Amino acid sequence: MTRNRDLEVIRLKEHLKALRLPTMQAECAVLAQECQREGVDHLGFLLKLCELEVIERERKGAARRLKAAYLPAIKLVSEFDFPAQPTINRLLVLDLMRCDYINKKENVLLIGASGTGKTHLATSLAVEACSQGKRVRFYRVTDLVTQLLEAREERQLSRIRGQLSKLDLLVLDELGYVPMGKSGAELLFDVMSRAYERMSLIVTTNLPFENWTEVLDNERLTGATLDRLTHRCQIVETGGESYRLKDARRAKRSREMYKTESGSPTGPEQTPVYKDRPGA
Ligand code: ADP
Ligand code: MG
Repeated sequence: MTRNRDLEVIRLKEHLKALRLPTMQAECAVLAQECQREGVDHLGFLLKLCELEVIERERKGAARRLKAAYLPAIKLVSEFDFPAQPTINRLLVLDLMRCDYINKKENVLLIGASGTGKTHLATSLAVEACSQGKRVRFYRVTDLVTQLLEAREERQLSRIRGQLSKLDLLVLDELGYVPMGKSGAELLFDVMSRAYERMSLIVTTNLPFENWTEVLDNERLTGATLDRLTHRCQIVETGGESYRLKDARRAKRSREMYKTESGSPTGPEQTPVYKDRPGA
């Protein structure tokens, strides 16, 4: 009897392997014993076994998509200190985390000074999109432009365009930090116009719209790029004061306060140090 059962398990595992169901193959015997102990019926057992396979597939898929997105770091919205950046529309950001804008092929523009959390939020949106099954690729604009210029040189533009056309979301980080020259701007414009209404773009920039001509090197191109980008676009303004600077200043104030409290004669005015901190 036990020998028969062992043979059955071996054959079942072979079938599950042939059907490419590795988690069911690995878990079936142990789960069957558990279900028997707990009085779970056949359908209940099968349901649990299938759920394990689906969960594992989703996990592996998200990890694969995350790797293929080439994010500079993993940043989560839960790590973002919204009270510290009051310019940012928190509700809009949380709504964007639902990824509906990707289904609608809308764009997101994050605009604000350096250090105000643009890359952090763009990365968080990208992580969320990966976990919701979207194909994502993150580029610093200068890296993408360099790759496009090289690809054109090697007559490989169609290959890179083909890769980009498969995406659901393309993140273009740091538009406007470095002028990209006429050819670079044209190639970038080509990417953005191909994306238009076929996929979503997230663009981060420190440039107000009126200065885009300086970077894109051409008034007509700037107009056309802005037209496509901002048509059906959510704009998140991240403000003017760097979080890093604010953080450093807060730490400094806190050190000074400590000195004052411990009797230092050179202490500054008595600022309540943690008043503006979340949860304080
Ligand atoms: P930007 O892209 O606007 O120059 P970053 O997103 O790179 O700024 O932010 C700089 C650093 O500060 C990053 O490490 C980021 O995680 C952190 N940071 C910025 N704003 C916040 C915030 N509100 N809460 C937590 N960390 C933040
Ligand atoms: Mg940045």
